[in-house]
Amino acid sequence: MLTENFLSECACYIDGEFIAADSGQSIPVTNPFDGSVVGNVPDMRTDETVRAINAAHAALPAWKRKTALQRAEILMNWYRLTLENIDMLARIVTLEGGKPLAEAKAETNNGASYMRWFAEEARRNYGDVVPAPFADQRLVVTREPVGVVGVITPWNFPMSMIARKVSAALAAGCTAVVRPAILTPLTALAMARLAHEAGAPNGVLNVLTGSSRVIGKELTSNKIVRKISFTGSTGVGKILLNQTASTVKRMSMELGGNAPFIVFDDADIDAAAAGAVFCKFRNSGQTCICANRMYVHDAVYDTFLEKMAEHVKTLKPGNGLDDGINMGPLINADALEKTKSFTEDALAKGGRIVCGGKPHALGGLFYEPTIIADATDDMLFASEEIFGPIAPIFRFTDENDVIERANSTDYGLAAYFYTRDAARIWRVSEALEFGLLGINDGRISTCEGPFGGVKESGFGREGSRYGLDDYTVLKYACQGGITTA
Ligand code: NAP
Repeated sequence: MLTENFLSECACYIDGEFIAADSGQSIPVTNPFDGSVVGNVPDMRTDETVRAINAAHAALPAWKRKTALQRAEILMNWYRLTLENIDMLARIVTLEGGKPLAEAKAETNNGASYMRWFAEEARRNYGDVVPAPFADQRLVVTREPVGVVGVITPWNFPMSMIARKVSAALAAGCTAVVRPAILTPLTALAMARLAHEAGAPNGVLNVLTGSSRVIGKELTSNKIVRKISFTGSTGVGKILLNQTASTVKRMSMELGGNAPFIVFDDADIDAAAAGAVFCKFRNSGQTCICANRMYVHDAVYDTFLEKMAEHVKTLKPGNGLDDGINMGPLINADALEKTKSFTEDALAKGGRIVCGGKPHALGGLFYEPTIIADATDDMLFASEEIFGPIAPIFRFTDENDVIERANSTDYGLAAYFYTRDAARIWRVSEALEFGLLGINDGRISTCEGPFGGVKESGFGREGSRYGLDDYTVLKYACQGGITTA
């Protein structure tokens, strides 16, 4: 069982062992609520990364030879242990990331659902028998694991991003080396403890903490690593794409977003306002699928604003561990500064504050949940990912115009729209250039659905029946000389 003791012994996990950095150095992890140190993680460097990669490589043949059911059983053990330890895991997520405990639990449940999903999918990793062009031939396509996978994850979902990638990789028969974000590495180390207890053979999963540049450089350039699965910003994604070019690795890129949220004049405005608040302010606005630009039809603009502001009043910022808190702080001082700058820019260009608009009276890294009306396309948040608790509300009157504005971004992750018109649902769905659509719903992330973007939001899909594809390679075998008796 994970206990509070875990926080005083945060070791990395390489080849089945829990170890410190060779140098003995560690890096403090702080609580964004009050800046207190909640743990110290090993500052590992190139040597340890190479050892982790070699361990994953050595473990690969036996792991991929296991039956799908054997791999699935270990994933199911991991799933069960995660649920048994959910209170402590969620507490760690809150301590290092600041999100309210209920959100941390929801994230942990969501992450666990991927463990179960891919345990189930492991047994359905089918190939094909293809009709042959000659009578004496048989053509068979099988799926094989890609090999050793390097996994690099962001701080905003420290549990579910790792679960979503590692479960798919392990189910497919790959082995993995995980480098979690340095702001929230404790959850990853706790997950490694549970994977070990679940019976993952030595080297199948390795988790190491330290400088992203140092560990990332080795993961992206080492020939043994056959794939990088990355979730994070588009800027860092581009660096990793460049770094992997010389060894031609498979890549999964789950990058940034700039989600439009469109409310048509025939929408259920109550549902739209509730959905907007959920998908804007979850994790204090720090999710890749957060609504970034809200386009509301002129005819329902004022009603929507009023209803959304009512919902925002129910948000209670504070210490995520306390009862009744449903909004946490921002992750760090940079995030707070960036949030402030979005508001200042909007106000300078004619934006109108409906609620919030400044750092919260709680101080520290808290910013008020904010709605800015009269947003215009020249404001910063029209083109940039906010990653903070600001909801800019743009006005529109014409369907074609709003679709054009929604698509006028380099990003293509999530988009949302609310309407009761069935024909419009099809038209708009087909016209939006995004990988994920929320239609009359702000809650889109689930293990059953393929998660991923288009354009500069990346490529690859996580979860769903397509999720194993990114961790498998197709092998085609053509057998000739099959004579009839
Ligand atoms: P980030 O700055 O891109 O960092 C992501 C990860 O990459 C972190 O572990 C980071 O390490 C590491 N990293 C940074 N520079 C690196 C380098 N040169 N080489 C190797 N690794 C490097 O993103 P973030 O601030 O953690 O997360 C927020 C971003 O992630 C947002 O843009 C959000 O939209 C995106 N995101 C996307 C999805 C999705 O599914 N599409 C989901 C969640 C988040 P450090 O921790 O040491 O900086």
